[in-house]
Amino acid sequence: MNSQRFPAGAWTAAGSLGPVTSRQSEPPDTGSRIRIDLHTHSTASDGTLTPEELVRAARATGLDVLAITDHDTTAGWERAAAARPPGLTLVRGAELSCRWYGVEPSIPLHLLGYLFDPESPELVAELTRVRAAREVRGERIVELLRADGIDVDWTEIRAAASGGTVGRPHIAQALIRAGAVATTAEAFTPNWLGERYRLPKDDIDVFRAVRLLRQAGGVPVMAHPRATKRGRIVPDSLIVELAAAGLAGLEAEHEDHSPAERDAVRALAAELGLLVTGSSDFHGAHKTVRLGAYTTGVEAYERILAAGSGVGVLTDPG
Ligand code: AMP
Ligand code: ZN
Ligand code: FE
Ligand code: FE
Repeated sequence: MNSQRFPAGAWTAAGSLGPVTSRQSEPPDTGSRIRIDLHTHSTASDGTLTPEELVRAARATGLDVLAITDHDTTAGWERAAAARPPGLTLVRGAELSCRWYGVEPSIPLHLLGYLFDPESPELVAELTRVRAAREVRGERIVELLRADGIDVDWTEIRAAASGGTVGRPHIAQALIRAGAVATTAEAFTPNWLGERYRLPKDDIDVFRAVRLLRQAGGVPVMAHPRATKRGRIVPDSLIVELAAAGLAGLEAEHEDHSPAERDAVRALAAELGLLVTGSSDFHGAHKTVRLGAYTTGVEAYERILAAGSGVGVLTDPG
């Protein structure tokens, strides 16, 4: 269990509050003082900042709490932990590539998992399998592109991912290098990786992912559940079922949600008693969104800390 539900670093870094000495202390009812970003990527997956650069950038931008949530891997945890600057509390997590098989064709979705045991055998096996499936799928996408005369090279793409989880953003960069598209955003349009050259991954069944995360002491939160701009979304009825199966929360504030979509997520979360997060989903130069562009309130953060037992948060090192 976490010994510290109120990380001292987060509070002192906020400036006016001072250190919290008692677990009974009431947090403020707003996230405005303490800035919490619970969804970011590093070079361990498809972000462009190394884990060290990510934690430093987080503090430099005024964040008090940062979660590192690379796709299907915990490979960045140690480096982020070792480099965390004074004043920054680190939440270790991952974004799991999941799929709902309840409809045909199945729908991909992302689950953020926080504070899970990174050595939980079944979870480790699933993450290893999904990363391998991403490699197979990436190479196939490259074959399709090459068959259409686009000069992209799988070996080069893998090298650019430098051992991290390979994703379409890495292929998007190769498309830019080949002169096929001008920007990452263009690479994700339907003519390219958005549809024509988009292949499904062999993802984790979402119910299994919720169960494995919980079993590992983790806290599952569905990422951007209403992001229609990314493709098909799952129905509310699935979220109801997942909540019964152990889903803890929903990400509402996200750049891919319209204001109406954010409201809908909040309403559904309230109905189901789920916590609500907001996060940047920062990817460095692979996206335009800035660290801390969206944040999570203290109350939701506290609920995540209370529910997570696989690993604790890492508080202010100095
Ligand atoms: P993959 O996990 O390989 O399917 O790729 C999904 C990743 O691509 C997401 O995590 C984002 O980082 C990125 N992505 C998806 N859509 C866009 C977009 N429209 N512009 C930039 N990046 C995107
Ligand atoms: Zn990504
Ligand atoms: Fe995502
Ligand atoms: Fe993400």
